[in-house]
Amino acid sequence: MKNKHFETQAIRAQMERSDNNEHSAPLYLTSSFVFDTAEDMRAAFNDESDAYIYSRYVNPNTSEFINKVCLLEGAEAGFATATGMAAIFTTFMSILKAGDHVISCSSVFGATHAVFTKYFPKWNISYSYFNTNKVDEIEKLIKPETKFIYLETPTNPAIELIDLEVVGALAKKHNLLLIVDNCFATPYLQQPIKYGADLVIHSATKYMDGQGRVLGGIVVGKKELVNDIYLFGRLTGPSLSPFNAWVLSKSLETLALRMDRHCENALHVAKALDGNSKLENVSYPFLPSHPNYNIAKKQMKAGGGIITITVKGGYEAAKLFLDKLQMIKISPNLGDARSIVTHPASSTHCKLSEAERLTVGITPGLIRVSIGLENKEDILNDLLQALN
Ligand SMILES: *Cc1c(COP(=O)(O)O)cnc(C)c1O
Repeated sequence: MKNKHFETQAIRAQMERSDNNEHSAPLYLTSSFVFDTAEDMRAAFNDESDAYIYSRYVNPNTSEFINKVCLLEGAEAGFATATGMAAIFTTFMSILKAGDHVISCSSVFGATHAVFTKYFPKWNISYSYFNTNKVDEIEKLIKPETKFIYLETPTNPAIELIDLEVVGALAKKHNLLLIVDNCFATPYLQQPIKYGADLVIHSATKYMDGQGRVLGGIVVGKKELVNDIYLFGRLTGPSLSPFNAWVLSKSLETLALRMDRHCENALHVAKALDGNSKLENVSYPFLPSHPNYNIAKKQMKAGGGIITITVKGGYEAAKLFLDKLQMIKISPNLGDARSIVTHPASSTHCKLSEAERLTVGITPGLIRVSIGLENKEDILNDLLQALN
C-alpha cells in the first residue's frame, strides 16, 4: 500500500477478511479473543506473537483504523483512543515525568490549555508558551529539562499558521521531540512528519469522522515512542471502542473527497465575505490577505474547512448574528458535513481570562465557522442574511 496514492490507501488499507469474504470491513464487537492452546496465550502476553488478546489493547477494527492513519500520515506506528483529548493526555503522560518542561504554542485547543495550566503544576511539570506568530521565541524558552515542542497549525480558533519546516529544524537542532496536533488540516492537507514531527495527534471526532457521529482520537509517529504510549494506554484504558474505530475507518474512505469540498466551499465563502462592511476581518489560510499565506501555501495542499470572521460591534453584534442564522447551527463541534458556528470567547475559550484570550487572538467579535458540505451558495447566503 505504501506506493499507492492517498485516496487508494484511505480505502484499500483494510484488515484481512474472514472466511466469510466480506467486501466491506466487518465489525468485531468482542472484548476478548481466545487461544487454541495455553502456549499460544503465553506467547501473546510475552510479545512473541501479535495475536489479539483483549480490546483494551487492540482489536481488528482499531488496528485497521491505526494502520490507515499511519499510511496517510507517513508514520511507523499508532495508538487509537476514545477521544482526541485522550490521545493528547496519554501521549503527555507516557512521555513526561515530574521535573520536565514543555514548550507549546500559545493558541492551543481549550482543553489542552487546561491540562497545561491546571494539572501540569500539580504534577511538577512546567510549560512555556511561545507566541504563535513568533517561532523565533522558541529557542529562548528551551531549558535543560525541556522534553518537547507542542503545536497546532492552523490554530484553533484564530487560524494562525506555524511554519513546520522552521520548528522541525529547531527541534532537531536542540534534540527535542516535536508533537503536532494535526486535527484542523488532516493528513490530506498537511503531513507534519515530513517536516520532522515525531508524533502527530488527531481528534478523529472532527474531519476524520466528518459527520459529527462519533468521538475518537489517535496518535501516530515513531515506533519507539508509540510503543511507550501504547503500553501506557493498554494499562490505563483510554482505548478507542471497536464500533467507533469501524465508523472512523469507513469515514477515512471519503476523507479526500470531503476535504476537497470543505476547502472549495470555505475558500468561496471566505473570498465572498472578505471586505464585507459588517466585518472587521475574515481569516482563511488560502486568502492572499492572510498574514501567514506564504506558510499556508508551503505546507498545506489547500486552506482547510475553517474560517473565522470578526463582526463589528463585539459580543453583542456576534450574539445577534449567531441568533439570526437560519440553517447553520450554533455548536462547539467542527469538521462536520453540516456547517457550524461557534463563538469561542463565550464558549470553548470562556475559561481563559480576557487578557489571555486577546493574546491568542480571540476577540469578543470573533466567530469560528466550520464550513460544511452543503451547497456553497446556501452556506454563504445564510451567513449574508444574518450579517444584514
Ligand atoms: C476537538 C479538538 C481536540 C479534542 O478532541 P476531542 O475528540 O473532542 O477530545 C483536540 N485538538 C483540537 C485542535 C481539536 O479541535
